[in-house]
Amino acid sequence: MRFTALLVLVFSCVSFATPPKITEQLTGKVVRVTDGDTVTVLVNLKPLKVRLYGIDAPETKQSFGNQSKAALAAMVFGKVITVKKTGTDKYGRTLGIIRYGNTDVNAKMIEDGWAWHYKYYNDEDRLAKLETKAKKDKLGLWADSQPLAPWEFRRQPRTPTISKKTIQGPTTGYWLNLSSGVRHNSQCGNYKNTKRGRPCGPNEGRPCGICKG
Ligand SMILES: [Zn+2]
Repeated sequence: MRFTALLVLVFSCVSFATPPKITEQLTGKVVRVTDGDTVTVLVNLKPLKVRLYGIDAPETKQSFGNQSKAALAAMVFGKVITVKKTGTDKYGRTLGIIRYGNTDVNAKMIEDGWAWHYKYYNDEDRLAKLETKAKKDKLGLWADSQPLAPWEFRRQPRTPTISKKTIQGPTTGYWLNLSSGVRHNSQCGNYKNTKRGRPCGPNEGRPCGICKG
């Protein structure tokens, strides 16, 4: 019996990461949905911005960004929800798991293919499995065979790092970022300048939003 208990303990340590510690539980009405992973909840008449823990939704400027936001809004906007606070992010925002009724909204966003499992900050198997399933079933953003992860999208420069003069010059080659599947042309600041990449043809990958590949 003791041996079995030990086995169970070892097994659970190996297979399932510890769920996040809940530091506080709050209840309030969702008065704003910013995007697929951020909401504003009115708690005791005060607005509280909550970043959904363990998930990362496409930015509103990305493909499926608006659909992801709409999916979250359809579930919780105007509803009274529970926020299980797990901590605070580097911007001071409350991180939490939100529940509407019996639904774990964070998990549901992954399950329906409207958000990525944010593996850098959460290693729960159940969330990883929901993502794998959504990917397999091509749900939501997974309809795209090579969707750009939001953390990759945020790493891209917001303004072109190249001057107009250079962008008008001739394109001498193309570069494929093997992490994101994005193609850059030789005038782009990312050309031959990504962690993983290789020279490619003019039609490989997806064109960069800045240099247009
Ligand atoms: Zn580019």
